[in-house]
Amino acid sequence: MDQHQALFTRATRVTPGGVHSPVRAFGHVGGTPLFFARAQGASLIDVTGRTFIDFCMSFGPLVLGHADAEVARAAHDAVDDGWTFGACEPYSLALAEWIVARVPWAERIRFVSSGTEAAMSALRIARAATRRPNILKFDGCYHGHADALLVRAGSGLAGTSTASSAGVGDDVARTTLVAPLDDTGALEAVFQSAGSTIAAVILEPLPANHGLLPQREAWLARVAELAREAGALLVFDEVISGFRVARGGMAERLALRPDLVCFGKVIGGGFPVGAYAGRADLMDLVAPRGPVYQAGTLSANPVGMRAGLATLEKMERLDGWTTLEARTRAFTERLRAAFAGLAHPLSVVDAPGLFWIHRTDPASNADWFARFFHAALAHGLYLPPSPYEVGFLSLAHDDQILEAAAHALGLAAREADR
Ligand code: PLP
Repeated sequence: MDQHQALFTRATRVTPGGVHSPVRAFGHVGGTPLFFARAQGASLIDVTGRTFIDFCMSFGPLVLGHADAEVARAAHDAVDDGWTFGACEPYSLALAEWIVARVPWAERIRFVSSGTEAAMSALRIARAATRRPNILKFDGCYHGHADALLVRAGSGLAGTSTASSAGVGDDVARTTLVAPLDDTGALEAVFQSAGSTIAAVILEPLPANHGLLPQREAWLARVAELAREAGALLVFDEVISGFRVARGGMAERLALRPDLVCFGKVIGGGFPVGAYAGRADLMDLVAPRGPVYQAGTLSANPVGMRAGLATLEKMERLDGWTTLEARTRAFTERLRAAFAGLAHPLSVVDAPGLFWIHRTDPASNADWFARFFHAALAHGLYLPPSPYEVGFLSLAHDDQILEAAAHALGLAAREADR
């Protein structure tokens, strides 16, 4: 039996669906998930020794590439020094000071272990600060898997929300209002009917969990304005966009200032780190300073703190954000050229360090993507295994790699074009 198949068969005996996070299961693309043994730079190496150019990049943390030497050194040093103390240490202080000095709307920061925890905790502060019950999120935005955030719209207005996961109680789902993206009328209607009940409006300022859906700045500004007028907090979920699309994330690019911001992925350099940050008066509501409880055995784990700081310092030293943006633009321009003349046109959406390829005809997109994914795999390219996950670039994806990859994706697109 094929080695991947043999491992997956064993995995399904001991783990639900054989995976520890659903999208890894290849449910959207069919076939057996590959098992990878190593990774370096822009490459993933599977258990048989085959190498793939990686555009999944662990879904976003590895902005410098896999196993970057400086980040590896920082992590090794952290392990050598003892990897968790459950007590105060200088490493989280260094990372917190680095971020607070550069992201003015992050006046205080609290480290947690995932983006899920960050979003969940930010909402707890919002409810405490406003003494209001509800939150407003947008359809198609993902904020991790806390109960209150696993909710999508019924008909899109107050009181009609339904959970998008079994096990989320109706009482919880009811407190999450959901509005469509880019629909000012619907947004205004929600605020009109329920504005005084909304503790926080949470959104990805660059939605990147249902494909890549850059929003109009005027719409984003209107969200901020309505939130402010209603006395609701504005929470930016920058778990993907933070320290990737720019040093200060989308808030910096948009010149919009959230009250609270959620980080994850890049800030831990590929180790399990999340953070929530924001206005000092709001963050000071958190225990032990204030009454909002939030804690974690492995919060601010020194390995993640030192790897995260090494990642951010290297990005800053190399002006990595400028390079990443330029490379993404050149790569996606090449892709558009490589996809010219297909019978079924493809669209390529990009933001610095991110791209999303999809069919312009949504009805056939899912079937097409499964063929495209496997054709790309046969050409040695590993894409995120879902039509709605975005592709990630890193500084390890140099011009030569990206030129070859664009050519190979052009071939894969032709093979999948029916
Ligand atoms: N928020 C956004 C925008 C995300 O993309 C994710 C994960 O992909 C999360 C929150 C949850 O982060 P985590 O998977 O670290 O819990």
